[in-house]
Amino acid sequence: MQDEFQTFSTTTGFLVEGGQRRDVVLHLGESGLQVEGGPRILWRKAQVKRDDADQALLIIGKSATVGSTDPGFLREIEGAAGNELDQQLARLDGLPTSWRGSQFLGCIAFFGLIGWGFMSMPGCYRDAVDQTVDSLPYSIDVSLGEQAEATMEVGDTIEDEVVVGAIEEMVERLSDHFQNTDVAAEDVEWQIRVVKSDQVNAFALPGGFITVFTGLIEDAESPDMVAGVIGHEMAHVLQRHGIRRVANEIGLFAGLRLILGDTGGVLGLAGEVMKQAAGNNYSQQNESEADALGTKAMLRSGLDPEALADFFLLLKNKYGDVPSGLAWLSTHPGHDTRVEAIRSIIEGMEQPAPEPLDLDWAEVQSRLEKR
Ligand SMILES: [Zn+2]
Repeated sequence: MQDEFQTFSTTTGFLVEGGQRRDVVLHLGESGLQVEGGPRILWRKAQVKRDDADQALLIIGKSATVGSTDPGFLREIEGAAGNELDQQLARLDGLPTSWRGSQFLGCIAFFGLIGWGFMSMPGCYRDAVDQTVDSLPYSIDVSLGEQAEATMEVGDTIEDEVVVGAIEEMVERLSDHFQNTDVAAEDVEWQIRVVKSDQVNAFALPGGFITVFTGLIEDAESPDMVAGVIGHEMAHVLQRHGIRRVANEIGLFAGLRLILGDTGGVLGLAGEVMKQAAGNNYSQQNESEADALGTKAMLRSGLDPEALADFFLLLKNKYGDVPSGLAWLSTHPGHDTRVEAIRSIIEGMEQPAPEPLDLDWAEVQSRLEKR
């Protein structure tokens, strides 16, 4: 076996012996590391840890522990160990983001071996899902959204051009003011529909399909409140939260099949996932991100960035903190938490001159009363 060891790189570090550290030369190979004149540690049997005292990176093997305080050591290990240690390395603090890329393969291999075990590795699983989604073309989002929208029964649409036009104007205004999103706003063909329903709600499907319920328009005290909600929904689309959730629910292998172009059966399944939750059941993290991005877009647009926060307060007054009938909010941080987060974002940003939407809000609302 000794002959099989191929050195990838050589570096210096220490060997821990009897509680003492002794400087040694380390030969790093694909299968493990060899201490010059000493023991060998196999990657697949190794544990990676940070030493609490001095932040040294420790590689703990069956027969020995080695390590180094050199920040470059991490990268050396990355180069040599390939995907073997990725999951462990990814969990270390202060990890450079370049690590994330290769973690995907390690994670896939892991699930290939024990596909049923993913519940014990949620962090690894989520990261792998994100990697999968990042490699999917955006056209998948559009196909998925189209499919879900076509088969969802949400109620009758309102065609009144004053009402629909008002929502379209909000989308148009906000669209130019999102920055650094996963999908660029100008690449999204926004499709708006207004649906007759008492729900004080709106939702977005992947690919830019936004549904606004008339209940939201009726209850909103200003057009900016609706725009705030729309900005939040647009952020879900731009950060691909829908397809991320689908990938989480239908599994990575279905996600891989999407990458490989086998979209038919998988899309059907994915469409069901979106439909069941009415495009509303995102994680807290996704919700907070959508609040933040939407708020920033509102502010840059010259609209009232606090309008989304005001809308949460309005809901809270009307329905209590976590209204059970509002799926959009029910699994999410409480209103007060969201309001606080929104306000602290606004405080940290430059405030441009307000540029109100050119809308007669009373007129928009009165159009709905006539129905
Ligand atoms: Zn949301």
